[in-house]
Amino acid sequence: MARRRQIYEGKAKILYEGPEPGTLIQYFKDDATAFNAQKRGTISGKGVLNNRISEHIFTSLATIGVPTHFIRRLNMREQLIRQCEIVPIEVVIRNVAAGSLSKRLGIEEGTQLPRTIIEYYYKDDALGDPMIADEHIACFGWASQDEMNDIADMAIRVNDFMCGMFAAIGIRLVDFKLEFGRVWDGDYSRIILADEISPDGCRLWDMKSNEKLDKDRFRQDLGGEAEAYQEVARRLGLLREDDEFAVLDLDSHRKKRGK
Ligand code: UDP
Repeated sequence: MARRRQIYEGKAKILYEGPEPGTLIQYFKDDATAFNAQKRGTISGKGVLNNRISEHIFTSLATIGVPTHFIRRLNMREQLIRQCEIVPIEVVIRNVAAGSLSKRLGIEEGTQLPRTIIEYYYKDDALGDPMIADEHIACFGWASQDEMNDIADMAIRVNDFMCGMFAAIGIRLVDFKLEFGRVWDGDYSRIILADEISPDGCRLWDMKSNEKLDKDRFRQDLGGEAEAYQEVARRLGLLREDDEFAVLDLDSHRKKRGK
């Protein structure tokens, strides 16, 4: 088979040219980074789990009418997606204080917020993804006002849906990051949900124990990150004893670690 053309390599994913014009293949790596890539490592099996978790969430969102770039999963680490023009804004939705919000404003981690907060960050690694306001987005033309209205509406719908989905499996959705893209139809464009939704970009806490089931395990050197991602997939009903994920063999890994 001819070697596929690589379009882009990010910190956790690689994008390849897709089989049809207007499509791409999104490959999920095991690489993990934190603190603007100052900390690097790998989480064994993460790519396989994130591919599956993100597929599940994106297909569920499509059933409630949220347009996404997801077309179908191709194999353990790859999914076929619609090519889009990424809006250079990271959208963070917060339900509970944690991470940079706690640090910046001195609000104790775990404080339930009286209302959901949406924040915007400018996607620029060299600048360390600075927080921005609507004013900056309008001033520098990163997205139009109509696009920002669509993005905020979709972010709230995604949050409502995901809060319920995770609550049903005993997980608190503390905060998460979304990215959006633009697809063109002649002279008109519309906004769709892009990138991925996985424990890499969400804070997920067990409702009973408050145990962290997300990338904070890696950021904070808590250990057990692969097991945490697997637990999220398991609770979502995405793991079975006999399926392809058995290949991850995380249980024997866990036993070896004496847990
Ligand atoms: N997040 C992300 N990518 C980023 C920054 C943040 O996926 O580049 C996610 C992060 O996993 C968390 C949420 O967005 O679920 C809020 O992150 P925060 O602003 O608290 O930043 P952090 O503490 O991760 O630096």
